[in-house]
Amino acid sequence: MTTLDGALLSPLRLVTIVASNDAVDAEAFFEFSRRVGTSAWWRDSAPEYHLGSVDAVAELMGPAILANVTDHDVYQYVTNALAMNGGPERDGNTLYLLYLPSTIVVVSAGVANTECAKFGAYHFAYGTRGDNLAVVQRCVESFPIENMTISASHEIFEAATDPNGKGYALPRIARREPWTESIWNAFELTGHAELGDLCESTFFESAGGVYQRVWSNAAARGGGDPCVPALAERFYDTDFDQDWYAIHAGESISIPVRGWTAGGAIDPWPVKVRVQGSPPVFTADFLGVDGTLADYEQGNIVVNASTEAVSGAIAVLEIVSRPPMPRPGERRLTDGGHINLVGVNVP
Ligand SMILES: [Zn+2]
Repeated sequence: MTTLDGALLSPLRLVTIVASNDAVDAEAFFEFSRRVGTSAWWRDSAPEYHLGSVDAVAELMGPAILANVTDHDVYQYVTNALAMNGGPERDGNTLYLLYLPSTIVVVSAGVANTECAKFGAYHFAYGTRGDNLAVVQRCVESFPIENMTISASHEIFEAATDPNGKGYALPRIARREPWTESIWNAFELTGHAELGDLCESTFFESAGGVYQRVWSNAAARGGGDPCVPALAERFYDTDFDQDWYAIHAGESISIPVRGWTAGGAIDPWPVKVRVQGSPPVFTADFLGVDGTLADYEQGNIVVNASTEAVSGAIAVLEIVSRPPMPRPGERRLTDGGHINLVGVNVP
């Protein structure tokens, strides 16, 4: 992963904002922000991208948030909260991090992001100097703080390394014939995958809290787990011969998929498929022994295209390798899964 113009938020100033109707959680979020800069997570991930320190410069309580919010509402809310608190003003290196209260969801393009169906958090430019805004939604009621700090750390890292959309990210999806390019350029059907996106669902727990791990070019070159900080766990994932496979309307194809591991033997692990695209047009299932894969073992992704699939239609299949059965009661806040992609297109 490379950067286009090298924009960074560095040293990063972090302003954490919690709504007054979420006061009960505020101290946990503020404390997380205070610890980020000295965490093992930042120490092990930031230097590769030439990031400097993180300074938690302000902890703000804003007014209650009682209704779902659009992008524009978030912008207004943060601007208002800053005015009420007398700053801190934007300086080109600041990330304003807003945690939404329970039950409040973001409305994006007119659609409520209920239960984080589309995203758990996102970041965007705040003004024209490079500062960013990030919004974290409460997706689940189990381990809500940990799950929100995981999302927050994802956005902190991405805002710091891609504040203007021209920093560290993969290309956007090709307008024409995306199947002639890397499947990773079609991530989530939009492309522009950033450093957190490529390691979604794998986490790092340390004394300071729970973080999302991030992509490391150096770790990827090592041939094993591409995400950092390194975990004392074995790595397992899937592998395909091609990025894209052609499928005709009304057809069914079998895409061979192999398991591979790094760092030693591991029990067979469950594999799941999620279709991104036009689910009514394409369906996909993993077929393997008990729905699992093992090192060197081959399974198949069986894809169906309905008779309505038109020429040029595509789907990105997200192949998630889940951890081998967690022990009962064990929190899966360290390594929840590894994602690979394969695409199908109708010629
Ligand atoms: Zn992201």
